[in-house]
Amino acid sequence: MEIQAALVHEEGGEPRLETVQLDDQPRADEVLVRVVSAGVCHTDLSTADNFYGGPPYPQVLGHEGAGVVEAVGEDVQSLDVGDHVAMSYDFCGECRNCRSGQIPYCENLYEHNFLGERVDEGTSPLSKDGERVSGCFFAQSSWAEYSIANERNVVKVDEDIPLEVVGPLGCGIQTGAGAVMNALEPESGSSLAVFGVGSVGISSVMAAANVSSCTQIIAVDINGERLEKAADLGATHTINPDATDDVVGTIRDITDGGADYSLETTAVPEVLGQAVDCTRIPGECGLIGAAPAGTEVSLDMHTFHFGHKLRGIIEGDAVPELFIPTLLDLYRQGRFPFDEIVTHYDFADIHQAIHDAEEGHTIKPVLSVSEP
Ligand SMILES: [Zn+2]
Ligand SMILES: [Zn+2]
Repeated sequence: MEIQAALVHEEGGEPRLETVQLDDQPRADEVLVRVVSAGVCHTDLSTADNFYGGPPYPQVLGHEGAGVVEAVGEDVQSLDVGDHVAMSYDFCGECRNCRSGQIPYCENLYEHNFLGERVDEGTSPLSKDGERVSGCFFAQSSWAEYSIANERNVVKVDEDIPLEVVGPLGCGIQTGAGAVMNALEPESGSSLAVFGVGSVGISSVMAAANVSSCTQIIAVDINGERLEKAADLGATHTINPDATDDVVGTIRDITDGGADYSLETTAVPEVLGQAVDCTRIPGECGLIGAAPAGTEVSLDMHTFHFGHKLRGIIEGDAVPELFIPTLLDLYRQGRFPFDEIVTHYDFADIHQAIHDAEEGHTIKPVLSVSEP
């Protein structure tokens, strides 16, 4: 079938809409999804910039798609034609970590999400005039009118919430909320400092305020508008590093000695150092920001010695099949109003969406790919 998809042709290239060919018959374990909306996540942009060494160009990115199932492969059990779905990350389901329920730490996570091809066959469902186009990005490549996904990474959602709203749940928002609810699990009344309040950080703020009942939630960002939004959505304090030369000291003052927990979402090494240093003895810092391979950070071994913890967090430690419906329940209850950080763009305006995200004018761009 002929579809419109956003192609990136070279390292650092901007995606542009072109006609490509997509296999219209899903394989046995796959589903064909008509994409209604798709988020723009930082990982799309760093993949276009070749931070992670794949997929080969030309490539179709997009890994936060939502839509309607149009066809299912013969072995698919959990999904039917007409189901409303969100697409998330893929995993192997067979390695030791997958079998013990820790699917964000699948030993084959890279192969299942970044190769641009089916893991078992090495084929891509996308092509352009006979030439291969990398698809299968996060087993979806959802910056396209239709997507071939795997049963594993597709989550059925209730139909009462519009698919335009569901769009961004598959990665960034799940990552931020899950880092709090699944990974750090702060006690009620504890304090949390969030470094970087883009879509991931603000999702952490909302979860800390409305689900975990943290009493001090400190948002740190150099973007004043984002700080205001974070304050609207639950941050009790905001710090702009451009306005103070002692971020760590300010956090220690607010929290009477240091935050119980912190989250680093910026992938800047100096900021990770601050996120560790601002925690109290023995506090815990979660690293979410994805830096290029080889990025190193320096920590003071003496202070770190005092019981501090630092842990990496992938996809909010979330099993999407369980966590996305939980986030939608919280949304219905008004406790997780993630639509407040979303700006919708027509698919044709994908350039503008990316530009606005990079310039900090919008927090979470979501593309309206087709009619709901
Ligand atoms: Zn696995
Ligand atoms: Zn992402």
